[in-house]
Amino acid sequence: MRQPEPEPQSFDRVLSSMCTEPHPDARAAAERFLATNPGDPATYESVAELEARAVEGLATLAAHSAPADAAGYVTSGGTEANVQAVRSARNRHGGSDGNEVNVVAPASAHFSFTKAAEVLGVELRTVPLDDDFRADVDAVAAAVNDGTALVVGVAGSTEYGRVDPIPELAAIAEEVGAGFHVDAAWGGFVLPFTDHAWSFADAAVDTLTIDPHKYGQAPVPAGGLLAREDAALDALAVDTPYLESRSQATLTGTRSGAGVAGAVAAMDALWPDGYREAAERAADNADWLADELAERGYRVVEPELPLVAADVPESEFESLRDAGWKVSRTGAGELRVVCMPHVTRSALRAFVDDLDRIRR
Ligand code: PLP
Repeated sequence: MRQPEPEPQSFDRVLSSMCTEPHPDARAAAERFLATNPGDPATYESVAELEARAVEGLATLAAHSAPADAAGYVTSGGTEANVQAVRSARNRHGGSDGNEVNVVAPASAHFSFTKAAEVLGVELRTVPLDDDFRADVDAVAAAVNDGTALVVGVAGSTEYGRVDPIPELAAIAEEVGAGFHVDAAWGGFVLPFTDHAWSFADAAVDTLTIDPHKYGQAPVPAGGLLAREDAALDALAVDTPYLESRSQATLTGTRSGAGVAGAVAAMDALWPDGYREAAERAADNADWLADELAERGYRVVEPELPLVAADVPESEFESLRDAGWKVSRTGAGELRVVCMPHVTRSALRAFVDDLDRIRR
């Protein structure tokens, strides 16, 4: 018997996801390139050309300026980009005998670094945060040594939307001869419209994660890994005997051309004005929600990037979930709301109305 067509969820009540509704141009481009494989660029030439444009677009965002030079590729997401950044740094630090090699990252680093350390056999040294959830520079300085292959800074942390002191962390990495990676997977498409120092233009950043499938409004899967120098990607390359292209630096083999084409179409449509408008709207929404929650007596972590965390009692959190709101909690238990482009003021008003009803 024919089953009813399954429907994807609507974004109406999705408040904690870092994915969003793709831009219509990006959706259409992704569909057109669905059956192409940028992992085999000598066969799928047009998508390979598009990938060069995607990297140029991402590099432009990461340099805050006109077309910039960077190596890189469209990954399956932030996880792959972070794993590859660790792998590249490990390989450049002293080969794959990882016993002595460590990576120093703030406690706010995404759990993809835990996966990277496990898969790659490097030690992950997680250092504490300061009182405002940013990497504690002194703690990072105390954790590095000559076995440090990579220092990680986060520009837009997953739980609190914080931006680490990137130039200071870059200086520490440089001092011990380590690589420096910035994870701007979520923040990368918002940060160009703020005055934070986070990018290739601000510090000696070697590699950077910046995901079109988050704030970039591209369809999943489209992450981004950028490298200031080709050598960072060369350190990832393996020979590919049966392909006409001779080597491959990506972690996955066959990849979806949909991610590449979607990323290019989204950036063509939205950079810079569309992204600026989305970032400004999101910042206003986050400030509005933070004020509304604070007025009701909740302890709120003031938003830096458009992400609000607030101490909401467990029972109220559960009632919000029961009312259909897709919200989640930080590791410390706060409710977190990520003001993605699909999160409108009227959705937030309805959310606060529901919260008021639950509190009565
Ligand atoms: N880095 C940061 C800062 C993130 O917030 C996330 C996911 O939310 C990731 C990396 C992992 O990205 P993905 O889920 O696309 O693999």
